[in-house]
Amino acid sequence: RVKEWVDQVIRPEEISRYLESDGNDFIRDTEIEQTLRENASPDPAYIRDIIAKSKSLETLLPRETAALLNVTDPELIEEMKEAAMAIKRHVYDNRVVTFAPLYMSSTCVNNCTYCSFREENADTVRRVLRLDEVEREIQTLAGEIGHKRLIVVYGEHPDSDVSYIAETVKAIYGAKYPTRKGYGQIRRVNINAAPLSIADLSTLKDVGIGTYQVFQETYHHETYARVHPANTLKGNYAWRLYAMDRAMEAGIDDVGIGALFGLYNWKFEVMGLLAHTRHLEDRYGVGPHTISFPRLEPANNAPGIAESSPYHVTDHEFVRAVLALRLSVPYTGMILTAREDAALRDAVIPLGITQTDASTRIGLGAYAQKDTAQEAHRQQFILGDTRSLDEVVRALAKQGMITSFCTAGYRCGRTGEKIMDALKSGHEGQFCKLNAIITYREWLDDFGSEETRRIAEPIIKEEIREVKRKNPAMYKALISYYEKTKEGARD
Ligand code: SAM
Ligand code: SF4
Repeated sequence: RVKEWVDQVIRPEEISRYLESDGNDFIRDTEIEQTLRENASPDPAYIRDIIAKSKSLETLLPRETAALLNVTDPELIEEMKEAAMAIKRHVYDNRVVTFAPLYMSSTCVNNCTYCSFREENADTVRRVLRLDEVEREIQTLAGEIGHKRLIVVYGEHPDSDVSYIAETVKAIYGAKYPTRKGYGQIRRVNINAAPLSIADLSTLKDVGIGTYQVFQETYHHETYARVHPANTLKGNYAWRLYAMDRAMEAGIDDVGIGALFGLYNWKFEVMGLLAHTRHLEDRYGVGPHTISFPRLEPANNAPGIAESSPYHVTDHEFVRAVLALRLSVPYTGMILTAREDAALRDAVIPLGITQTDASTRIGLGAYAQKDTAQEAHRQQFILGDTRSLDEVVRALAKQGMITSFCTAGYRCGRTGEKIMDALKSGHEGQFCKLNAIITYREWLDDFGSEETRRIAEPIIKEEIREVKRKNPAMYKALISYYEKTKEGARD
């Protein structure tokens, strides 16, 4: 049954139609290695020119990204940090968006060497959530914690095929629960699932998924083959690489790409992410909506994870990778997850992160069970930061950042190219401020602890003052909505 399913999922004709004329894909390992070598010791003046280009919000060229990746001088790294913060502020203002991952299944036909859900691991609990269990998870996530966005995660298996994905997405959107003053509901369902065919992706577009996320894991062909056995669905590099092209063709224009840092040289992976971005920009006029850069975490029975790996990415290297990415694709959303510990997350978020998860639980059914224990045989890997959403909102507020719970942009059709244009122009920063303030108010009133509200109130006041100063017409509208929200009206 599994083999039949894999044969049915992969469509060779949907790989070949995207390959370049010489039959190659757009990631050429030797070219990337050579670009990195040629820019191994960049001149400081060249680096400063590249920083200036980033600040004008242009996507960088491969040689420019390679140069940034090779910067080791602490003074220049400091300049890159300042530029990354300035870009983030210009494009996304002082907002951060939060979400929660929701694992739907632990069944998988693949054998990725770094993952505890790999098919050959007998020491893992295998399960697919039933619809009533999904609803219970949403009750906790939307009704008690206050999440508005999810990344819903599916194993690659016939039991979690496209019809299961569509059914569960519909169930999530349909669930609504009373809160202190209003109601809680998930308004944006992003998914992380197998690479699918154009027909299957069209089905998912019809049920209204948000971002479609597939990580290439490693862009390095040889490493890819080593960690993803050939006789599996994931063993097909090109089928995975072109998942985003198929999504674009199916009309899903918000796509999320990513690499799993620690499988191969981190600099190569950043170059791969840049090449992928440039490929999508060239072909479809719009790059990825988000880029993810998870680091390899410990996982139960995962032979591909070795502490002694030459590709282990240190915290310092991780920060350099984040800086190079922020400067290379200035307008793209960047996701930092709870794989990283609290201290590192708090330090890295100001460098250009736009989305982060909170109250994270990755065991199946763990939200409803209020299960805070991390159990290796029930999770894909072990988390570094299990702080609650309330704690994360508070930590962000302490750094002067506002957590936006707004999902209106998507509902007004501001997706894909339209939102990218708004982001590049810097208008998005101001346009969304209003909704950010109002949804922050909503969340604080419905879910925030007293302590968090105390720290957040001065931030809201300052935000409102800023709108009054910069845009008196908008201020009038803001105050009217703000007062209604305080009385219990909801987005
Ligand atoms: N089955 C889907 C897949 O592999 O694309 C979704 C599962 S999972 C949430 C999504 C990502 O988790 C994977 O793409 C991989 O990058 C990441 N992941 C897998 N094992 C990991 C580990 N040991 N540490 C950190 N991240 C891991
Ligand atoms: Fe399956 Fe994803 Fe784990 Fe690979 S990483 S074994 S595809 S769940």
